[in-house]
Amino acid sequence: MPTRNELWTKVQQLLQKNLSKPSYETWIRPAEFFDFKDGCLILLAPNSFSSDWLRKNYSQTIEEIASEIFGDQVKVQIKVKKEFSLNKNNKKKTLSNVDQNNSFASRDNSEGVKSKQTPIKKFLPSLNLRYNFNRFVVGPNSRMAHAAAMAVAESPGREFNPLFICGGVGLGKTHLMQSIGHYRLEIDPEAKVAYVSTETFTNDLIVAIRKDGMQAFRNRYREADLILVDDIQFIEGKEYTQEEFFHTFNALHEAGRQIVLTSDRPPSQIPRLQERLISRFSMGLIADIQAPDLETRMAILQKKAEHERMRLPRDLIQFIAGRFTSNIRELEGAFTRAVAFASITGLPMTVESVAPMLDPTGQGVEVTPKQVMEKVAEVFGVTEEEMRSASRRRPVSQARQVGMYLMRHGTDLSLPRIGESFGGKDHTTVMYAIEQVEKKLSSEPQLASQVQKVKDLLQIDSRKRR
Ligand code: ADP
Ligand code: MG
Repeated sequence: MPTRNELWTKVQQLLQKNLSKPSYETWIRPAEFFDFKDGCLILLAPNSFSSDWLRKNYSQTIEEIASEIFGDQVKVQIKVKKEFSLNKNNKKKTLSNVDQNNSFASRDNSEGVKSKQTPIKKFLPSLNLRYNFNRFVVGPNSRMAHAAAMAVAESPGREFNPLFICGGVGLGKTHLMQSIGHYRLEIDPEAKVAYVSTETFTNDLIVAIRKDGMQAFRNRYREADLILVDDIQFIEGKEYTQEEFFHTFNALHEAGRQIVLTSDRPPSQIPRLQERLISRFSMGLIADIQAPDLETRMAILQKKAEHERMRLPRDLIQFIAGRFTSNIRELEGAFTRAVAFASITGLPMTVESVAPMLDPTGQGVEVTPKQVMEKVAEVFGVTEEEMRSASRRRPVSQARQVGMYLMRHGTDLSLPRIGESFGGKDHTTVMYAIEQVEKKLSSEPQLASQVQKVKDLLQIDSRKRR
């Protein structure tokens, strides 16, 4: 039987195996053992948000695992580690220093609404009005990122700084990020919210260097209360931009301003990113958005239909949602095409009339993981058994990687579930495999043609592309 404090370490180890890395790193690892007595395990969470989160989402699992290890019923209590309410005051000091040359009073969001002043024009952010929380459908794939985004908008510059949102293309990163800006401005209309793409940031920097306007450049970004930088992965390899961004980041962070970043991958996986930036980006909260499941996709379409004041039959929504699995932008595109098609042709909005347009094969079935396994095995001349094994034989590992890649693109499965289909591989292995295949597709024609062959067998492209 484990000693008192070994119990938590053991529970952590088990959870680590069973949770996605971001979930583990964000919630489980930071929780500390405090005490274990009378069958009650007391843990300390670093802040109230994370203690609530643990309580809501993990306490039952923790209890089950701990009871199993301990051999008797264990209860869990999660408390907040105190010293956390600290530096609000310090932050305010720095803030007012920075704000001295600014015509705008520094604001303290704990004071609530302040007296009216004309908002600064240069800070009027270029936010898309559609990208607000009301129009963001929360599913299991985005629950944590959404909760963190709300928390950041409500109390910026506190617990999650920076908030780093990562996820694949078209999964709602920009939408969520801009929602933070809108909501912040709703709470505090005088807030200085800056939204920039990394590209704009880089271009501004280049212009500043050319025209020798570095000071203006710095002031502009460093005056923001809330700075939203989209697609930070594009900073990859740009040494000078990274340098400048590092200083901007520090200035903002030290002044207690909130920084939110998005990226298609976690900081540690952005190639050619300076170590010190990786560590800065990781010091707040990394929240990921996964591909939405069918139900969430249907809810997204439903909401879109409502906003456009359209009534779509449920089976049509299900039909469209069943076909576009890994990218919400494409899902929305399909919806729009379906609506346009129906209105141009005058046909009714039904599965029968719209289907040929969205799915030229006319086969209304989704690819299943099993089909992927079968066809990959067939084309690569290995067995399914081998693909699930730990064998590192080249044809086997090649087939396994392709299988993972195609499951990602052809089915609904999340990374961890794909890992399971391959005999319990870790989701990071899956992620790596997908990257490898993506990389090799352009440089290895033989592999590319094998992948195409599997796709043809599965008719993935014809199902997905339209
Ligand atoms: P990303 O920045 O991750 O590439 P976007 O934020 O641009 O993705 O989202 C792509 C499209 O999908 C946008 O039109 C956005 O409004 C929509 N979208 C994404 N996620 C959601 C969601 N959870 N609810 C509603 N719409 C969403
Ligand atoms: Mg985006």
